[in-house]
Amino acid sequence: MEYRNSYIDTRGATGGRTTFTEAIIRGIAPGGGLFVPKVVPRLALDTILDFARKPYAQGAATVFRAFGVDLPSATIDACMADAYATNFDTPAIAPVQSLDSGTHILELFHGPTLAFKDMALQCMPRFFSASLDALRRADAPEAEEDFLILVATSGDTGKAALEGFADREHTSIIVYYPYEGVSSLQQAQMLTTQGSNVCVYGLRGNFDTCQTAVKQVFGDAGFAEKLARSYRLRLSSANSINWGRLLPQVVYYLNAYAQMVASGAVAAGEPIDVCVPTGNFGNILAAWYAAECGTPIERLLCASNTNRVLADFINTGSYDIREREFVTTPSPSMDILVSSNLERQLFELNGRNAEEIRSWMQALGEEQRFTVSRQCFAALRKRFSADWVSVDESLATIRAVYAEHHYLLDPHTAVGYTVAERLRGSNPVLVAATAHWCKFGADVYRGLAGIRAEEPLPGELAGLDGFALIRSIAENYEYAGAVPQRMAELEGKAQRFGEMRDANAEAVEASVEEFLRGRGQTA
Ligand SMILES: *Cc1c(COP(=O)(O)O)cnc(C)c1O
Repeated sequence: MEYRNSYIDTRGATGGRTTFTEAIIRGIAPGGGLFVPKVVPRLALDTILDFARKPYAQGAATVFRAFGVDLPSATIDACMADAYATNFDTPAIAPVQSLDSGTHILELFHGPTLAFKDMALQCMPRFFSASLDALRRADAPEAEEDFLILVATSGDTGKAALEGFADREHTSIIVYYPYEGVSSLQQAQMLTTQGSNVCVYGLRGNFDTCQTAVKQVFGDAGFAEKLARSYRLRLSSANSINWGRLLPQVVYYLNAYAQMVASGAVAAGEPIDVCVPTGNFGNILAAWYAAECGTPIERLLCASNTNRVLADFINTGSYDIREREFVTTPSPSMDILVSSNLERQLFELNGRNAEEIRSWMQALGEEQRFTVSRQCFAALRKRFSADWVSVDESLATIRAVYAEHHYLLDPHTAVGYTVAERLRGSNPVLVAATAHWCKFGADVYRGLAGIRAEEPLPGELAGLDGFALIRSIAENYEYAGAVPQRMAELEGKAQRFGEMRDANAEAVEASVEEFLRGRGQTA
């Protein structure tokens, strides 16, 4: 039998008997806590450095085994070989580009949707299906039904989830997006998705009303009962607080360090700092776990955009959303107020004190703020630094880095790069690049051309659609590189979906049943 770790939760409701397969299927713990592994494994430096000498998938399997995933070794190998293969546009999967001796870019955008969510969402659904199979063989009650994943998306997550769950066994997925609230390229990405178990609806509303409608469906016990009875289905959100999405993200930091040693960017064992453009705190938390696993990562630099609640928290110890307004920026995937994975980080830094976490989260719910203990704040400051970047500065960075390093950043990565420049010490810095520039053509062009955010593009560019605009950038800026094939080929692809519904729970529930009836799933 393989080594099996168990999971505890941040609010202390589960007592440490949960396995990986149960944690991935349940998503969130009873009581609202998040699962973390009871034991964080330590890998020898040589084991980590060896990742540079083998396929990415093998390193990923090594990490999962070290974390005590309770699936047969052959299943782990098979899931990884499938998750990190030709679905990525480079065999390196997550290559490191060195801009100079001090600055290195970890490119996390080579997956099917050209953004970093693919790193987790190509992997997690495969383990979700394998976990359901395993739990079924053990007659576990939580695995009796198949799962229907519902996602409300502001753009990137929806497409990455569609690609990850397409044609996965025991699951289907429906994505809801705010019609006219996503870019034309993001819409084209979603509406052309292949797969027999996927569906996409536009909702007449903004992201907030979409999300509220989908949340209400999750809270409707009568609807859940009906799905179970008539379709033998259970709802799941598969969102970024699922441990199954976090663990795959730990892998690329180990792999990146191995690449940096192999290329001579650092000597074996020499420390680096990591800078992450942050939203829900998943990506930077993964870097923290990678350090705990033995990767020589010293400081974690947390980069926020104008929605700076995380940067302020790391600088003050107080998380306070009372006076904050949610603003939209050119880096929309970092536009957040409540950063859900932070809870895991605090649990890891406060001596895993669940009672304290419960009181902080209760305060956040009731008073919109909490302040961590002095010990927890000291532990946080020991490893983390943080800063935030204005919209104008982030666009200026795109232009400056293009001129100086002949490298084109997307607006999210530009936030990370700016903070890395400000907070860097003597260690080389690895900046996580979370999206390909072509997903955000208009703001990338504004950055390159020195046009302020929200100002119209000049002349004939103003009339171009999303595809024509990124082609124009690729043609006129020699170091932009070509438009990735998987983006270019979307232009001619037939749209499979395009239906619209109202943004309320009733309309969403009706659309779910329509989809299920269409698949002939009635009992
Ligand atoms: C999701 C996302 C982020 C934020 O990552 P977190 O793990 O939520 O902190 C940053 N950039 C892009 C492009 C993203 O899609």
